[in-house]
Amino acid sequence: VVHCRYVNGIGAVQGGAVMVTFMDVTHVEHAEQMRRDFVANVSHELRTPLTALMGFIETLRGPARDDSQARDRFLKIMDDESNRMNRLVGDLLSLNRVESEERVRPKEEVDLTAQLASTLNSIRPLAESAGVDLNLVAPKAPLIVAGDPDQLQQVFTNLIENAIKYGGSGGIVDVSLTQVERDPAIRAPAIHIQIADKGPGIDSVHLPRLTERFYRGDNHRSRELGGTGLGLAIVKHIINRHRGRLRIESKLGQGTVFTVILPR
Ligand code: ADP
Repeated sequence: VVHCRYVNGIGAVQGGAVMVTFMDVTHVEHAEQMRRDFVANVSHELRTPLTALMGFIETLRGPARDDSQARDRFLKIMDDESNRMNRLVGDLLSLNRVESEERVRPKEEVDLTAQLASTLNSIRPLAESAGVDLNLVAPKAPLIVAGDPDQLQQVFTNLIENAIKYGGSGGIVDVSLTQVERDPAIRAPAIHIQIADKGPGIDSVHLPRLTERFYRGDNHRSRELGGTGLGLAIVKHIINRHRGRLRIESKLGQGTVFTVILPR
């Protein structure tokens, strides 16, 4: 059944008959609605820190002008809010870039073993400050795929940082790299990169929507931890570009496993 709303054109054809052509506008309307929702979300996300900044500037000009303690406290909050805006704009630009490149097949040779080891090294200080043990189990030999090294690094960084942020209470995050003969999701030989935490897990109602832009499992917690709600959307687009899949498995109270499946 085609959902037709508008008559696209009416014209006379031979023999006095009338020809009416219809245009299926369902997808056009859907895309338009998504665009409107996105603009509304971005505006809301930017306005929240902006309103805070404007409020504190006002206070610093007035009542807190001569109170050095209050001034330091407010400047710290203003610093946090500006950083939040900066992260949001950075993530929006990343999302825009990965979406526009999604159809361009990445061609560079990427050694996943080296890539993961270097990603873990740069995240280790964050894990240590959160009291999380970060482990990597990977083959010694190089494991090469055709890919975009910067984008794959972004995927691993986002997923491991999330595991520390949301699942860090479990005290351990395990990262592994394995080869499988055949993965049913991509029906081909594959490489699995798994990021597993033993945190509180994710309620199954959230799982199907987690990679949507601005979708957060726990709104309050994400904001408290400085999340933009765009990390997994970026991850999904990059994995699509690599013709891979993202699998998310979670059990409440037991933890979450994100598996990046890449064709070999
Ligand atoms: P955010 O900026 O909010 O972290 P993401 O797109 O990276 O945005 O993640 C979306 C949501 O997925 C998060 O707000 C969080 O609720 C949930 N999430 C992601 N990773 C985990 C995890 N390892 N454990 C529990 N929840 C997670």
